[in-house]
Amino acid sequence: MEQILCPICGSAETVIFKKFDSANEHRTFQKCTACSHIFASNFSPEVLEENYSKGYYPSPDSAKITQWISINRHIWQDLCRDILKFQNNGKSILDFGAGTGGFLESFLEVSPYTKEIYAVENAKNAKINLQNRFPSGKIYSTLEECSKYDFDCIVSLQCFEHLDEPSAICKNLYDRLSDDGILVITVPNRYSLRTLLLKQRDVFNIANPTHLQFFNIKSLTAMLRRCGFKKICRLASFPQNGNFHKRIITFIMRKFAISSELRFICRK
Ligand SMILES: [Zn+2]
Repeated sequence: MEQILCPICGSAETVIFKKFDSANEHRTFQKCTACSHIFASNFSPEVLEENYSKGYYPSPDSAKITQWISINRHIWQDLCRDILKFQNNGKSILDFGAGTGGFLESFLEVSPYTKEIYAVENAKNAKINLQNRFPSGKIYSTLEECSKYDFDCIVSLQCFEHLDEPSAICKNLYDRLSDDGILVITVPNRYSLRTLLLKQRDVFNIANPTHLQFFNIKSLTAMLRRCGFKKICRLASFPQNGNFHKRIITFIMRKFAISSELRFICRK
């Protein structure tokens, strides 16, 4: 039988994981017993493509893009505040998997020194939209097209769960940071209260058919360490926007690591 290696820690100690299975599932799930990561060891590229084209960016000027930006603006503004505590004079930023460009927009509003804007986005319509919105930015379809290797800040928000080879990309991003550069990474939390309750029905996680990696704190940290990061910090700050009671609940969930998203900032 073919040996399946963990895409995070490289261990061969992986077993079939059936708990995520449901009707019409196109992915085969595997769990690594070494780092506890769960991943799709097999999937249908056709089903993946079909879901990307119908679910994400129907056109470069789709109303969906502006809608997503307004829904997520508070989340990004919060994250920007956290980033500036770690680095407030960075000149260059790369957004890997930039999507709508909403995060970049929020970041540029609060980081006056950031003048060099780079983004990688492989969805064709999203890339055109980014080019229109950031005319001075350098926008690529793949990381290989980008020749810069001394970024002050690299962010990758809700992107790594879609990757087939997350460790290789993470190492590539590590290599592209300046000595005091920072990587900001967020992924859906496999142990979020939401996922624990909804299981296969959680559209933020397993129920999204384009997700291939299912991180928890242990597996995300394992990937970051393996790629060389020495200082790894999980963010669990108090939200700045919205209803006060909701903010308290979100804060507690972040502290106990059961919030929908895991957020990390790391240095070399
Ligand atoms: Zn592993």
